[in-house]
Amino acid sequence: MEIINYNGATEHERVLFGREEASGYRGIIAIHNTQLGPAVGGTRFWNYASEADALTDVLRLSRGMTYKNALAGLPLGGGKSIIIGDNRQTAGREELFRAHGRFIESRGGGYLTAEDVGTTTADMEFVLRETRHVVGLANRSGDPSPVTAHGVFRAMQAAARHRWGTDELAGRRVALQGCGHVGYYLAKELREAGAKLIVTDMDAERVERVASECEAERVAPEEIYAVEADIFAPCALGGILNDETIPQLRVEIVAGAANNQLLDARHGEALQARGILYAPDYAANAGGVINGCIELLDWEQSHSRAKVEAIYDTLLEIFQRAELEGVPTSKAADELAEARLQPAHA
Ligand code: NAD
Repeated sequence: MEIINYNGATEHERVLFGREEASGYRGIIAIHNTQLGPAVGGTRFWNYASEADALTDVLRLSRGMTYKNALAGLPLGGGKSIIIGDNRQTAGREELFRAHGRFIESRGGGYLTAEDVGTTTADMEFVLRETRHVVGLANRSGDPSPVTAHGVFRAMQAAARHRWGTDELAGRRVALQGCGHVGYYLAKELREAGAKLIVTDMDAERVERVASECEAERVAPEEIYAVEADIFAPCALGGILNDETIPQLRVEIVAGAANNQLLDARHGEALQARGILYAPDYAANAGGVINGCIELLDWEQSHSRAKVEAIYDTLLEIFQRAELEGVPTSKAADELAEARLQPAHA
């Protein structure tokens, strides 16, 4: 495999491009910050329009992992990797993920991966054939998605407590974007809690499954932003809170699993200006990486579970700090994470 160092100016410790002709593999590993421990973050398999787009995504995602792990109080740094290609591809999948495994192995444990958008626990088994620096395996901590979903549910409860003075979500209307791994489990938990769901996905089968199992209304993907509801839950891709979508929102709370929901930092201010309470993405969606600590750090299930429950307290702290300082919740979360990245704390 040909490995090329990316020398562009970023705040990252290391960014590497990997290419392998035989398997058709093209990937990037971005290690953002290892002050608190080895860089941990999933592998995204996505058909990016260009390598430049892929690079932008992996740089933002890996930075988000540093903040997520720091805020969750984990002794882990932030990293992320991507494979460029069609994630529905079945032929040659093993070769592709084994190539990715060799690329990860070349980092000697400085970067550890898990599943993310477009990948599955089965793909991680292929990665495991080439490197032990992979978590989220079927017979170990397993699929992180239900745990991520539960953490998002707790974040919603904290937002409800802050906004409405109660954790109760029964009778609340939740507009859910993305019925994938996390969206599905979140929908189930919300339905059980008595919430009313309005859902969308670009994949007809996925939206159908959630609609029928959770008695949810469905809307077309472009209609989800303007749905009148109490909560908007972005569980698809990033960048969906932007100049075009924020003015359309008719909700009081935004809380979901997607990484990098704000297209730009200033969109945190735009939400604040509209009086919408935003649960910062990396605070709300830390359940998956916390679950991975069962494998990574030999944590007991009970310890991991307690940490996921604590997402509720972290969110309350963020909301209170933001209110006190009159800043967007996204800024309050960044400040809390950055305090944990100070040399004295690390
Ligand atoms: P997934 O690929 O299983 O699901 C994403 C879903 O979003 C897919 O069904 C896809 O069709 C849909 N989608 C994509 N673009 C859309 C659009 N414009 N409108 C409507 N639907 C759209 O991924 P996932 O594992 O469920 O993760 C969802 C998000 O949560 C991602 O941003 C991921 O990075 C983040 N996240 C996931 C985990 C986890 O444990 N899986 C942990 C932390 C963060």
